[in-house]
Amino acid sequence: MSEYDILIIGGGPAGLTAGLYTARSRLKTLLLEKMAPGGQAALAWTIENYPGFPEGIGGPELMERTRKQAEKYGLEIRSGEVVKVSVSSEDERPGCGLEKVVNTEKKEYKTIALIVATGTRPRKLAVPGEERLIGRGVSYCATCDGPLFKERKVVVVGGGDTAVEEALFLSKFAEKTTLIHRRDELRATKIIEERAVSNPKLEFLWKSVVTEIFGETEVEGVKVRNLETGKDLTLEAKGVFVYIGTLPNTGFLKGIVEMDEEGFIITDGNMETSVSGTYACGDVRKKLLRQVVTACGEGATAGVAAGQYVRKWKYKKEM
Ligand code: NAP
Repeated sequence: MSEYDILIIGGGPAGLTAGLYTARSRLKTLLLEKMAPGGQAALAWTIENYPGFPEGIGGPELMERTRKQAEKYGLEIRSGEVVKVSVSSEDERPGCGLEKVVNTEKKEYKTIALIVATGTRPRKLAVPGEERLIGRGVSYCATCDGPLFKERKVVVVGGGDTAVEEALFLSKFAEKTTLIHRRDELRATKIIEERAVSNPKLEFLWKSVVTEIFGETEVEGVKVRNLETGKDLTLEAKGVFVYIGTLPNTGFLKGIVEMDEEGFIITDGNMETSVSGTYACGDVRKKLLRQVVTACGEGATAGVAAGQYVRKWKYKKEM
């Protein structure tokens, strides 16, 4: 079993920033990431609202720079998907606080403080055809798959920042991009909405929902219902990009830390969860705003708070 002062689960902007801060505080820190570091931010073709980059910066570049910066100060990054977290009973070490054991499929790690920065995953439409046609036209990542739809018709589902930004990205390649939204008003930030409505390659289907994605071996189109009139129509499309919000990656923590009904983790202002010495930061937290800049700020706070917990724990243990 490997022992750490701090173990961070998740290598998006929140986890990497937490690691940058703990590594600079000379705390022995391990970051576990199930895929490549960068998180969902690394899938954004451009990030325009991260301060300091007036021209915007590509998500992959920003995340690569953040990873390098954290590793430069000694953050250890390993790949592995966490499947279980156990917390020792406080009685075992009176006054010292809790110790945590983190398991991946292959390894077990012991840590004094734990930072959860596992982010979110796309919410699915749950309509016929969606699961069957994933990777055959159904996608949750325009940055990854968009260029495959050059001169093809695509639809985007959702009305938030992600749906509208990704529809704008897709409109650079696709012959026609249709954004299907269940209301007649977008949720996306105004500046993004302005660009979308003035883009001649983008069309909108308001007050409408996708009821089926069809196609034999690949996507051929979608069935859409107008929620106002109840009328159904069929839309030809080779690609269906679904951006209807996100769900937290917290299944492995069920019953351990307090969460809301959807599984987002509840913390205090220092990012501490209901379990002492366990912190959560970034999109996985229950909160108002999910942005790279808020993830980084919360990561920094979690890193500093976790550092204080570790120092207190070590001091009490020595007494
Ligand atoms: P979101 O803001 O939660 O928007 C989800 C959209 O999907 C909403 O328009 C919602 O409709 C719609 N929707 C939800 N369930 C649906 C269903 N079953 N069928 C059809 N439509 C459905 O999600 P997001 O766009 O992925 O953004 C997640 C977070 O990341 C947000 O906080 C967002 O601001 C942030 N983000 C920011 C940026 C940026 O600042 N550039 C970029 C990307 C993401 P209603 O509007 O009717 O609820």
